[in-house]
Amino acid sequence: MLRRSTGGARGALKAAGKLARSFATVEKADCVVIGAGVVGLAVAQRLALCGRDVLVLESAPTFGTGTSSRNSEVIHAGIYYPPDSLKAAFCVRGRELLYEYCSERGIPHWQIGKLIVATGPSEVPKLSSLMDRGARNGVDDLRMMDGPEAMRMEPELQCLKALFSPVSGIVDSHSLMLSLVGEAENHRATFSYNTTVVGGHLEGNSMHLHVCETKNLDENGNGQFPLQPELVLVPKVVVNSAGLSAPLLAKRFHGLNDQVIPPAYFARGHYFTLANTKNPPFRHLIYPIPEDGGLGVHVTLDLNGQVKFGPDVEWIDGVDNVSSFLNRFDYSVSASHAERFYPAIRKYYPNLKDGSLEPGYSGIRPKLSALQQLASDFVVQVA
Ligand SMILES: Cc1cc2nc3c(=O)[nH]c(=O)nc-3n(C[C@H](O)[C@H](O)[C@H](O)COP(=O)(O)OP(=O)(O)OC[C@H]3O[C@@H](n4cnc5c(N)ncnc54)[C@H](O)[C@@H]3O)c2cc1C
Repeated sequence: MLRRSTGGARGALKAAGKLARSFATVEKADCVVIGAGVVGLAVAQRLALCGRDVLVLESAPTFGTGTSSRNSEVIHAGIYYPPDSLKAAFCVRGRELLYEYCSERGIPHWQIGKLIVATGPSEVPKLSSLMDRGARNGVDDLRMMDGPEAMRMEPELQCLKALFSPVSGIVDSHSLMLSLVGEAENHRATFSYNTTVVGGHLEGNSMHLHVCETKNLDENGNGQFPLQPELVLVPKVVVNSAGLSAPLLAKRFHGLNDQVIPPAYFARGHYFTLANTKNPPFRHLIYPIPEDGGLGVHVTLDLNGQVKFGPDVEWIDGVDNVSSFLNRFDYSVSASHAERFYPAIRKYYPNLKDGSLEPGYSGIRPKLSALQQLASDFVVQVA
């Protein structure tokens, strides 16, 4: 929710506004979407289809280079989230809409199904509570299987019990994003790449966005942004869909009440791929019982038949504005991480051969709750 701050912030707000106006070109706009990840693209496509004039500002040279191209590409069923949460509601409804969208437009996807597996007796009750939770969330056709039945379905699998979710699937995330971009552009949305929103200020009820060309930022690498923007945009509607940067960017909007900006935590996840996968060992997605901060090192197949294992959970801190706005995170995957992957994977795939894991890629989860805190729900703020 956009709320004006009071007291001492007023001086900073005035100063930010004055400084911005004195140097930059000021232009009005209808709707500005910050960030061309899958969320910003979906919002832009929808607004454009509703007849609004949409401008998408993206700091990178193209769309979808952030978290949206660094994930498992799984269409989740909606099993894990607390009933009545936004996450549960959006996941179940979003899955239905996503399958519909992909089918209508020929976007590669596959309703491949998923097994969540209990490999030790202590995990069996957790599987039952997941089944209850999924059913309460409205996930259809969940079925508990005993170990032998699941292992007949997947001969390389070892488990005591499994929860089968037939509605889970995979999607080609790049094709999905390309389709959203195309539809938004066909409805007159404009995409401005290499363009970074460095902050903003409130004047009356209007957000003034401070915008710079990405190439002009941080030339000396000292983590500072220029004091004045090159352009000030005054839109009627602003959507902050800057992914990992969204809370950090909101903090740079002078005049917003700090109290409404959620905290930001980051958890990196690494992936390894299976070498020589002419014959993939599995035909379904295989997930262990979820862990703190993630869903556990699972097996994902992509639409090219590649088998991926991951992601693990590595909490990171010390993220500054520049790294986040310009996506300068460390995405490398050290081969040494494989030592932790082998034992985790062998709990359900005992025949995994030594030396068969190759470093893949990594992604970073934006989190609103820290390690060992209760997982928080989505926060969507509207003014
Ligand atoms: C390891 C991992 C696995 C996951 N697996 C799945 C999965 O299987 N299924 C699933 O549904 N979800 C999964 N997710 C979650 C999913 O990837 C994200 O929810 C989704 O990609 C978020 O999209 P976004 O548009 O919010 O963010 P992003 O894709 O990060 O897009 C934000 C964009 O904003 C731009 N930007 C940032 N700051 C600025 C600025 N100041 N000015 C201009 N532009 C800016 C960035 O460059 C970026 O392009 C996973 C996430 C991770 C990390």
